[in-house]
Amino acid sequence: FQQHYREKRPKSAAFFEQAQMLIAGGVNGNLRYYQPFPITFAQARDAWLYDLDGHAYVDYLLSYGALLLGHGHPVVQKAIQQVWEQQGTSSFGATHPLELEMAQELAGLYPSFEEVRFTNSGLEATLFALRLAMAYTGKTHIAKFEGHYHGAHDHVLVSVNPTFDRFGDQTSPASVPESLGTPDYYLQHTVVLPFNDWDACEKIMTEKKDQLAAVIVEPMQSGYIPADRQFMKNLRQLTDNLGIILIFDEVKTGFRVSLGGAQDYYGVTPDLSALGKVVGGGFPIGVVGGKRRLLEMCSPLRSRNRQEVVFHSGTFNGNPISLAAGLATIRYLQEPGRFASLVQRTHQLRDGIHELARQYRVPVKTMGVGTIFNVLTTEAEVRNYRDLGANRHELRLALDYLLMDHGVYSKPLNRFSLSDAHGPAEIQATLDAFEKSFAALGQHVT
Ligand code: PMP
Repeated sequence: FQQHYREKRPKSAAFFEQAQMLIAGGVNGNLRYYQPFPITFAQARDAWLYDLDGHAYVDYLLSYGALLLGHGHPVVQKAIQQVWEQQGTSSFGATHPLELEMAQELAGLYPSFEEVRFTNSGLEATLFALRLAMAYTGKTHIAKFEGHYHGAHDHVLVSVNPTFDRFGDQTSPASVPESLGTPDYYLQHTVVLPFNDWDACEKIMTEKKDQLAAVIVEPMQSGYIPADRQFMKNLRQLTDNLGIILIFDEVKTGFRVSLGGAQDYYGVTPDLSALGKVVGGGFPIGVVGGKRRLLEMCSPLRSRNRQEVVFHSGTFNGNPISLAAGLATIRYLQEPGRFASLVQRTHQLRDGIHELARQYRVPVKTMGVGTIFNVLTTEAEVRNYRDLGANRHELRLALDYLLMDHGVYSKPLNRFSLSDAHGPAEIQATLDAFEKSFAALGQHVT
């Protein structure tokens, strides 16, 4: 399948050769690389991507889920034009009205947000949330779940994608480094928990309660593997009982699982949350929201003594373009019926994929909630990172390359996110591509 891929994309191939001369590995983020070379895109509009070689694709990567309205949506364009005219690109290095507007909008959708602070990325949001928790509790360790991603910083670059020969026992997973250059300190101060295995989690957290400042969790692993409802309830109760701060990383699930995120879906109130992606309407942003007593740890009004305040700063925090684009996006999605109709189209697509998979006898199922799902190549139940080992990766990869050939892009092995711009025509084009791909695959599946 890859030979065909290469032949159809000489311009992307040549561009990638050139890019490698000056950009390390040719990409600005390791996850952007796939074999034999990533497609280089030249343009995008609505639900569509156009590559250098003139191919069009229905886009399901959507900037890793950030573009909930699709590419270049007119309400976003209008909002950023207005800001441009009123204040240029500057937040003045001071407070400005859009910041409060966004804070109010978020407090309406996320009742757990008694106070907020804005950052420029999801990475910064999870880092800052953890820092608040450590400052508040005076404890030095954090716990995260095996297979969960919280951005590219040292404390959480642990056991995101550990290999089976290193990940240790299921009930007490090892802390495995995800990157060179992360000091051992962080490995030693990051406890790894098995997702959806309550007994093991309870045991580990109880044993480590005096060290654990926080537990950080993707309420749906990678945006599509849900925590069991009882598991979530137990996690809330135990962290409360043990004096551990519960942090929901809703960078992916925020606005996608439900407009109010996974906390709305589960009816569970975390102490702190991190948002990102959608909330910036396609521009860089992160948000930390949660309990006043925690956010107040960073208030300069707290003390004149800087030693008693959590430091938080950033030149571009609260940048008006991100806030305006994000506000326009969130408000548009709250118009009656919009979000529900997008969820309905997502289900239509998933049902269609299931039907075709059955017809062509390809062992594929989809999994997810709301406007995000993944395509799994296993019949087995998947509840956490280790269960994903049952996936037939070679089959999923073959499917991804076939889909690209037929004009559907999610990036190999990635999830599928939908946008408001994915209408009936795009859903149909996608199902046609799945049908052709399954027909080709069916001959190879044993
Ligand atoms: N947390 C989660 C759950 C994410 O999916 C991501 C990004 N994929 C991040 C944090 C990091 O966000 P950013 O890439 O904006 O730093």
